[in-house]
Amino acid sequence: MSGPLLEVEGLKVEFDTWDGRVRVLDGVSLSVSPGETLGIVGESGCGKSMTALAVMGLVPKPAGHVTGGAIRYRGEDLVKASDGRMRDLRGNRIAMIFQEPMTSLNPVFTVGDQIAETARLHLGLSPAEARKRAVEMLRAVHIPEAERRVAEYPHQFSGGMRQRVMIAMALACEPEVLIADEPTTALDVTVQAQIFDLLEELRAAEGTAIVLITHDMGATAEMADRVVVMYAGRKVEEGPVDAILGNPAHPYTQGLLACRPNLQLGHAAARPQLHEIPGVVPPLHLLGRGCAFADRCPRAMPRCGEAFPPAYDVGESHAAACWLLEEARAA
Ligand code: SF4
Repeated sequence: MSGPLLEVEGLKVEFDTWDGRVRVLDGVSLSVSPGETLGIVGESGCGKSMTALAVMGLVPKPAGHVTGGAIRYRGEDLVKASDGRMRDLRGNRIAMIFQEPMTSLNPVFTVGDQIAETARLHLGLSPAEARKRAVEMLRAVHIPEAERRVAEYPHQFSGGMRQRVMIAMALACEPEVLIADEPTTALDVTVQAQIFDLLEELRAAEGTAIVLITHDMGATAEMADRVVVMYAGRKVEEGPVDAILGNPAHPYTQGLLACRPNLQLGHAAARPQLHEIPGVVPPLHLLGRGCAFADRCPRAMPRCGEAFPPAYDVGESHAAACWLLEEARAA
């Protein structure tokens, strides 16, 4: 297939809260093609996970509403799809892995039963075939002694192994799109690297499109082909990973990159300074009409509080929403 497999265009999601209707996603657009990894980065509360839930048709109801935009999978608008159609697509064509596998795995069933159930439901396999598929999938995610471990329960696996089981379950039906929401947050650094290697291996082998949601710029650098940076429910920058990491145009992206620890060993006296972006993401019900980052931005100008900036092209397939870019053009 040429062109994007999954396209989100102008997506708006709102929630009913005690403070009234709050817009949590405001005009988010992104796309991912077969065999590509798209990183979505930003702090907690910026809308990354909500974007993923909307794609999966899992915006919590009755409080949440998709109020605008489109989510197209192979051209079909999922915003208009029935619940039955979404159930069919979920897990089958579009799968998701979550950050804490223990909350997603059922503790009273063996991992084999859980993977087999997914394969049986979505692929229509017989119980024996589904069992065989479970063993194959455990092997595919490099779980040693898969034939024996298929009969074990989630608590008998380490955190890293449980995340591998989640990946095995997500991939059991050979989805075309895999959304990984902070898949390594709860894991040791060495296990994180193994999980990323595994995702990369599966992407290369199966041509799966991966949407990697993370706050970790290191993980993004390692995995992503393209990156979308989100802040307070909006996309603020998008571009190829090299451009985003090497030439970030938005002050928020620049701040995120400056927060990365820069380890230089052998110079104990000159310990690198840790940077931080002052303040926190503002409550969404308090957002005004200007740039949501203005309160934290070291380069904010009076006009930043007046209107949200449009996206300006800053390079090939690289754009950012910041008034500084218009000023730079004018200069
Ligand atoms: Fe900072 Fe203004 Fe750009 Fe927003 S629009 S990021 S406040 S300079």
